[in-house]
Amino acid sequence: MIPYGRQSISEEDITSVVEVLKSDFLTQGPKVPLFEQTISEFVGSKFAVAVNSATSALHIACLALDVGEGDIVWTTPITFVASANCALYCGAEVDFVDIEPNTFNISVSALEIKLQQAKDAGRLPKALIAVHMCGRSPDMRLISQLSEEYGFHIIEDASHAIGADYLGEPVGSCRYSDITVFSFHPVKIVTTAEGGVVTTNDPDIAHKLQLLRSHGVTRDPTQLHAETHGPWYYEQVDLGWNYRMTELQAALGVSQLQRLAQFVNQRRVLAKQYYQKLGTLPLDLPAPENDGTSAWHLFVVRVKDASKRRAVFEALRQMGIGVNVHYIPVHLQPYYRKLGFVAGDYPDAEQYYQRAISIPLFHGMTDEQQDSVVAALTEALQ
Ligand SMILES: *Cc1c(COP(=O)(O)O)cnc(C)c1O
Repeated sequence: MIPYGRQSISEEDITSVVEVLKSDFLTQGPKVPLFEQTISEFVGSKFAVAVNSATSALHIACLALDVGEGDIVWTTPITFVASANCALYCGAEVDFVDIEPNTFNISVSALEIKLQQAKDAGRLPKALIAVHMCGRSPDMRLISQLSEEYGFHIIEDASHAIGADYLGEPVGSCRYSDITVFSFHPVKIVTTAEGGVVTTNDPDIAHKLQLLRSHGVTRDPTQLHAETHGPWYYEQVDLGWNYRMTELQAALGVSQLQRLAQFVNQRRVLAKQYYQKLGTLPLDLPAPENDGTSAWHLFVVRVKDASKRRAVFEALRQMGIGVNVHYIPVHLQPYYRKLGFVAGDYPDAEQYYQRAISIPLFHGMTDEQQDSVVAALTEALQ
């Protein structure tokens, strides 16, 4: 089976994890700060806070922006459920904005209309979670202008997009947002097995994130409420969690990041070849990228005829092509239907879902494997 995505682990990656196992620290040692420093240097953010998953990262990102009961958080329906669940964890409400049919990212025009309506109804969102679907940045500059006009925070869910650029800067620099979140699950571009990171330029947000990932506990003398009782003394000053990343994960992450440019370059080459090799098939390809800035986590094709999607998908699996579908619209999940969402709420997201198939794209994929995918797809569509 040619998988839709998979990790790329080198001998150097293995050596760096084994070194940690032989060292004094399996957690709370020097590798996590090194990983954070490597990330913030790479993306150009002032701070990076590593945690045990992007889901945890999204949760504490919402908390650091004071999202809570009575607040509303918006995101898009075409994403992994975690992009919406994080708001529910905080006791906030979730609502969605439809996607742009050809980039699968948030539709800025739909956002603008919904914001005007929300303003009139006195129900503006506290935060917007802007998903970088498939590794391509949404139009953050326009979204940021709207955030100033309507007064909401922005979290970029860039789980798909480490290594991507936007307007000449790395995604994660937070030029147009308060916070960016990355995932290091093995199907993503860089892996720490499980793991996530939050980047920000705001020292108060960074401080809050550091507290929240480790029980809300501090030993920092400037943060203590009482006089210290001695060298053992710490205080819990907030309600936090244990969302810490281990040293093994951080060491793997540091080692993986050395190859990030190589990972993304090969993904861009493969994506470009897909555009060339699939152009004549009865498929809609993602909006062409004229600036070559996506990190290409996923390559999603849409069959022209939605009624054929399932048969095409099953034929591909039968031929050993490990296709997948990203994603079932979040608002149509049973849990979200219970909250009141119904089919028809977000027509472009629903249309997309009816037709989408993610085809294999990963670092280490050979041209022969790519040609097998194209041949299988050609046959399955006949
Ligand atoms: C993978 C993913 C997440 C969750 O990442 P984890 O690290 O697995 O918790 C969140 N949002 C999006 C868009 C993702 O693709």
